[in-house]
Amino acid sequence: DEDTCMVDVARFFLQFTADESCGKCTPCREGTYEMLELLDRIVDGNGTMEDIETLEKLARVISKTALCGLGQTAPNPVLSTLRYFRDEYEAHVKEKRCPAKSCKALIAYRIDPAKCTGCTACARACPTGAISGEVRKVHTIDQEKCIKCGSCFEVCRFDAVEKLDAVEVTANT
Ligand code: SF4
Ligand code: SF4
Ligand code: SF4
Repeated sequence: DEDTCMVDVARFFLQFTADESCGKCTPCREGTYEMLELLDRIVDGNGTMEDIETLEKLARVISKTALCGLGQTAPNPVLSTLRYFRDEYEAHVKEKRCPAKSCKALIAYRIDPAKCTGCTACARACPTGAISGEVRKVHTIDQEKCIKCGSCFEVCRFDAVEKLDAVEVTANT
């Protein structure tokens, strides 16, 4: 659904096949790890358009040259997502934004002062003490301490915790 990042989905399935690779042939043994590194860079917001091109080329070479079915099909999640969700890859690279707001490196949590009732639930749920505020007063998140676990987002009953693009939050702080 719209909360699922297709780049991360591709990474998840590729990780599985990389772990299963027997290591007999180079395209599968080395190629899948090379692809994983590229996907890691993209979900971390460090990818380039060249990385997307390299990823696609690698995927095609591996699917044609790997020795057995595992390696030949390993790149399929990457090829399929690049085909149908290329715009998601490009958003990660060009805008440093994850459209599904799923990739941790590219999101940030913020409390909407207009909605916060100061119930303290988020502060009690936060594992890093990143949230401060007095009872019945507006709470705030210290972005430096936040590890983006999402607990505050889940426990707030007033929809006061927003999940936003990190670039947006950084630009406004
Ligand atoms: S493609 Fe098959 S033979 Fe080659 S490393 Fe992968 S699992 Fe082994
Ligand atoms: S849980 Fe929500 S309403 Fe309660 S203090 Fe935190 S942000 Fe405010
Ligand atoms: S996302 Fe997690 S670490 Fe960040 S403020 Fe919310 S509860 Fe704390």
